[in-house]
Parts: sequence; C-alpha cells; structure tokens
Amino acid sequence: LHQLEIAVENRIAKKFPTVKFLNYKNRRRILITGGAGFVGSHLVDRLMLEGHEVIVLDNYFTGRKRNVEHWLGHQNFELVHHDIVRPVYLEVDEIYHLASPASPPHYMHNPVKTLKTNTIGTINMLGLAKRVGAKVLIASTSEVYGDPKVHPQSETYWGHVNPIGPRACYDEGKRVAETLSYAYMHQEGVEVRVARIFNTFGPRMHMNDGRVVSNFILQALQNDSITIYGNGEQTRSFQYVSDLVDGLVALMASNYTQPINIGNPEEHTIEEFAVIINDLIGGKSKIIKLAAVEDDPQRRKPDIHRAKIYLNWEPKVLLTDGLKKTIAYFAKELKRTKHSQKD
Ligand code: NAD
Ligand code: UDP
Ligand code: UDP
Repeated sequence: LHQLEIAVENRIAKKFPTVKFLNYKNRRRILITGGAGFVGSHLVDRLMLEGHEVIVLDNYFTGRKRNVEHWLGHQNFELVHHDIVRPVYLEVDEIYHLASPASPPHYMHNPVKTLKTNTIGTINMLGLAKRVGAKVLIASTSEVYGDPKVHPQSETYWGHVNPIGPRACYDEGKRVAETLSYAYMHQEGVEVRVARIFNTFGPRMHMNDGRVVSNFILQALQNDSITIYGNGEQTRSFQYVSDLVDGLVALMASNYTQPINIGNPEEHTIEEFAVIINDLIGGKSKIIKLAAVEDDPQRRKPDIHRAKIYLNWEPKVLLTDGLKKTIAYFAKELKRTKHSQKD
C-alpha cells in the first residue's frame, strides 16, 4: 500500500503545473460558474497558478472536463457538476459568474434555458454572494448594445436591442443580469463587478460553436469555402483570451462598480477577417457569401477608456499572434478527432 501511495503522489506531483504558494491570509476561495468553458478554463488556470482555491460549477452544456482536466485531483481545485439554475450553498470570497452559452447557435438552441441561466442562475449567484458577503463579477456582453446606433460603443450607451428577435434570449438575459446586479448592490449591499465582454477568441474555443473565428479557421484548415454571412461589411473587434482574463482579474480587484467594456478596439470587417485567416493558413480556400443572418449587429467596437482609466488595462496581444495560437490549437484538435474516429 505504501508503494502505491508513493506512486500516486509521484504521478500527481509530475502532473500539475507549479502553483504559487500563498499563505492563508492571501489565499481566496473563488467560485467560477461556467469554469469548464472556453473563457472560464483560462481563468481557472490563472487563479490556480496564483495559488488560490478554485471551485468550478458547470453543467457541461458547452464546456467540457478536458478544458480543466490538468487540475483534477489538485488540492486547491474542485470541479462540481451543477446547473446554476438550481440553488447552491457554498462558502466563497469571490464569484466569477460566467455560466451561459455564448455563441449564437448555442444560445439559440434552447432560448428558454438561456434565459433561465442568465436570470434565475444570476439571482442564485447574487443570493449566494449576499449570504456569504462575496464579491461577484458578472460576465455581461457587448450584445447588451444590440445592433448599435452609436460607434464605438461606450458604457453610457443604452443599446438597441430587439426584445423579441432570435438573439433576445441572450441579449435581454444579460441585460436583466446587469439589472439584477445593481438591484442587489443598491438594495442588499452586494459588491458587484460587471464586465461587458466583446468578441473573444483563443485555444479551447468550442470547435463547432458556429462563431466566425472557429468557422473560418476550420474551413481554411480543411480547404473548404470560407462562409461570409451577408455582404461581409459588418465589423467586429476581436480580443485574445489572455487579455480578457487580465481584464477580468483586474476588474475583480478594483473598486469600480459600474459596467466596464473589456475588448480589443482593433476593428475589422468580416470580409477582411476572412482574408486574414485564409492568408495565415495558406490561402487555398475560396471565400463565398451566403445569406445574411437576422438581426446581425452591423458594427461593433469597444470604447475602452474606462478600462484604461480605472483598471489600467488595455489589450496586449496582436490579432495575428492570437490567431496563430488558435490555429495551432484547432489543427491539433482536428488531428485528435480524426484519430479518435479511426479508433
Ligand atoms: P462557453 O460556452 O465556452 O462557456 C460557458 C460555460 O457555462 C460552459 O462550460 C457551459 O457548460 C456552462 N454553462 C452554461 N449553462 C450553464 C448552467 N445553466 N449551469 C452551469 N453551467 C452552465 O462560453 P465562453 O465563451 O467561455 O463564455 C463565458 C462567458 O463570457 C459567458 O457568460 C458569455 O456570455 C460571456 N461572453 C463571452 C464572449 C466570447 O466572445 N467568448 C463574449 C461576450 C461575453
Ligand atoms: N441562493 C443560493 N445560495 C445561497 C443563497 C441563496 O443558491 O447561498 C439562492 C436562493 O435559491 C434564492 C436566491 O439565491 O432563491 C436569491 O437569494 P435571496 O436571498 O435574494 O432571496 P430569497 O432567498 O430571500 O428568496
Ligand atoms: N459570420 C460569418 N460567417 C460565419 C460565422 C459568422 O460571416 O461562418 C459573421 C456573423 O454573421 C457576424 C460575425 O461573423 O456578423 C460574428 O459572428 P459570431 O457568431 O462569431 O459572433 P457575434 O455575432 O455574437 O458577434
């Protein structure tokens, strides 16, 4: 038995990345809802490496264990299969509330569930924060600005959202999540932080999430046609995931309680974006135009003055550097899935 224990210990010691040692005073207990997803798993890595205790709640709707499997078994880490639409009782110091499908095909797949997750789920997290006196950061979105009439979008803009359109379950769900946050702040004294996150990409993005980054990279890697929806003149501004994680951590640590945009202001048309990706991968794919999608926001670019002033934050990673890392990840994933299909 003793030998077995040693063998297990050795395996564990080799397996985990090295985490900082924090004494009891500096170590925080941090809950991340949606922590098995794309953004959440990168946040898990950051907070674990800093030496904190991290609890992930996830129902694996769009996330997966693989994204955090390198921490399974670590004494500071806990992964709990839980749907946040149900109440949960935990003792924590901070909550990063990220649980929600994020890509249009995912959130439109079950609009009622998307609404429940963003409303009831958010109430549960705010109720938990109220009970234990935790700080809570809500992952809101640039989608609260809808198809914006103001460009670039600053936090003072109220938005232009169709309340009954196909994107409404997400847009309005996140708008209610923001409203709930400030109601709990004013009425119950809960410490809230609200991040309005703009389009983000990077490794561990869901391969089949239908978002433009994953679609274009997969299409280019497989020499399929790159599909532009509409005329391709609509714009987006893309940030790399490590910049977002920096911003979220800085926001949680700050005293700033109003909503704050976290995004990269470098704006591209979708057509330009198709060319950039095609060129990075080798340029063999044809670029084709398909029908436009309903209620597609035509322009999107964050005004990040607030983040610069209050968080001393701005994005650092160049679009092409981030894309190269993401392309490498997708290429590896493609190989892995092809391999496992053969098995
Ligand atoms: P993701 O789909 O990869 O991650 C979301 C995670 O939440 C998944 O692991 C999923 O399984 C989990 N989840 C969903 N519903 C749940 C429920 N009811 N209970 C428990 N877990 C649940 O998406 P992401 O890109 O990592 O997004 C994370 C957060 O950031 C979301 O709140 C999203 O709205 C927000 N956001 C993301 C972007 C972006 O471009 N990625 C942009 C704006 C806002
Ligand atoms: N809640 C939770 N965990 C907690 C505390 C509350 O999940 O530790 C949930 C609970 O289900 C409740 C919701 O959060 O419905 C809102 O809590 P609040 O205290 O505001 O509401 P109340 O319990 O008074 O209805
Ligand atoms: N888009 C596209 N081709 C695709 C996927 C998306 O032209 O294969 C467009 C989409 O119509 C939108 C933009 O790219 O204008 C960004 O779409 P995505 O779904 O990534 O995110 P969101 O609309 O939520 O910003």
